[in-house]
Amino acid sequence: WKHAPATFRALLENSAFHGDKEFIVYGEERLTYAQHFRLAATLAHRLTDDFGVRKGDRVAIAMRNFPEWIVAFSATLAIGAVAVPLNAWWTRPELEYGLADSGAVLLIADEERAGRLSGIDLPVIVARGQAGPGSWQDVIGEVSPGAALPPADIRPEDPATIFYTSGTTGRPKGALGSHRNLGQAPMSVAYAMLRGVAMAGKDTAASLGQRRITLLTVPLFHATGCFAVLLTTMFSGGGLVLMYKWDAEDALRLIERERVTVMSGVPTNAWQLLSHPSLGSRDISSLAGISYGGAPAPPKLLERLTELLPGRTPSNGYGMTETTALAIYNSGQSYQDKPDSIGIPLAVVDVRVRGLGGEDLPPGEVGELCLRGPIVIPGYWNRPEATAETIVGGWLHTGDLARVDEEGYVYIVDRAKDMVIRGGENVYCAEVEAALFEHPAVDDAAVIGIPDDELGELVGAVVKLRAPAAQEEIQTFLTSSLAPFKIPVRIWFHETDLPRNPGGKILKTRLRQQVLGGQD
Ligand code: ATP
Ligand code: MG
Repeated sequence: WKHAPATFRALLENSAFHGDKEFIVYGEERLTYAQHFRLAATLAHRLTDDFGVRKGDRVAIAMRNFPEWIVAFSATLAIGAVAVPLNAWWTRPELEYGLADSGAVLLIADEERAGRLSGIDLPVIVARGQAGPGSWQDVIGEVSPGAALPPADIRPEDPATIFYTSGTTGRPKGALGSHRNLGQAPMSVAYAMLRGVAMAGKDTAASLGQRRITLLTVPLFHATGCFAVLLTTMFSGGGLVLMYKWDAEDALRLIERERVTVMSGVPTNAWQLLSHPSLGSRDISSLAGISYGGAPAPPKLLERLTELLPGRTPSNGYGMTETTALAIYNSGQSYQDKPDSIGIPLAVVDVRVRGLGGEDLPPGEVGELCLRGPIVIPGYWNRPEATAETIVGGWLHTGDLARVDEEGYVYIVDRAKDMVIRGGENVYCAEVEAALFEHPAVDDAAVIGIPDDELGELVGAVVKLRAPAAQEEIQTFLTSSLAPFKIPVRIWFHETDLPRNPGGKILKTRLRQQVLGGQD
């Protein structure tokens, strides 16, 4: 290593040492580490020389998971500018909100996003479109073989990224990540992964020598895709296989073709892969690990993975945009032993479970999960009140309810905002959802509160079935694992997939509106 990777720029420079090793695969396109570095260095010069981008300026990136996303991200951070990845699913007003909120000076977009924003008063570089002025090809021009990065003085505490939170509980907030956050994340993830390998009873030294080829099934514009997967891949010199959009059939084909060793995404991806009819007919023997996180993973998922893909190592990771993705991780034997736990914190993360009065709670008691460490962001962009409310004395208040067991394993019981309070009794949606997943006919489930005059809220569920089942039958089934007050009094059957955001999270606000209409 030339430098310790305390900044993204150092991580990028070090990644160039991987030279001719393949870095990015997208369809028939392939980029080695050297090619990626040259492209990023060339674009970095264009950003400074042709677009006048300076240190601290915000550069928005609005694209699907194309190789250009990664090049744009690398070039922006390498010159000390702040990358602002925008959600590719956003409509024009939402994209405009992101641009205005971040005060972006330049937009790098794919043709579709650029079209959605046509006429916008901002310089735009358009990738994946026709050649011509302002096109990616035109801007990049000649790529010089000996391209070096333009000089820049970047400190670990300098801002590097503004990632918008998933907007599950409200309007997306811009989480301002520092170079220190980005430098720390891949190191602590790599450490946790090696621990997972050891705990699965496998040889850590052998695993270090083995090239990881990761299939990325989630967007780069969310923390997981970028921080937990892209940065870790760059750090270790592995390969990254990109998909235009998640599709289980495509995933199986790509795992076979590219000899993918790890599939990384959200629990729904793993779930859908397992249910896919082509699972048995593809050669996916290269696949050694399946990692997921970002949303609750029902224990049933681990059980089915172990049964249908034996010998693979599943892992469940908990993270937030505000923690530069992964913060707590469960893998190997401990995951088999504690399938309902998100595991233990990364080596650099401290955990507290806080009661209502701010006091530390003993093991077993449920309170708000608070996290501290060098992967916690310094704050939200332009939102001093939200920052002051969320990060207190270095402790990030996650808004998630959790408990910790005697051995330090963390269990997410629910999002504080999701919890249903039925006549003063707390009902954790995640627990009821996990119980619903145990029913063989249930393909997907979301638990919501139904407003009730007498009890305040009642428990309701929206379920997608894979085989016929009646409400009464499911309710009876649940009585074996849940106390009566937790059993949904009403189950709505959803014909199509439940609405989820690109982070794999169920859009409960939308579901509540769909099933309850004006009642909400
Ligand atoms: P917003 O903050 O805008 O409402 P969001 O919280 O969904 O959106 P993210 O930062 O993408 O935005 O997600 C973090 C949240 O995802 C966590 O607070 C937690 O509720 C949930 N989560 C992440 N990983 C897991 C996991 N392994 N198990 C359960 N929940 C998880
Ligand atoms: Mg959040």
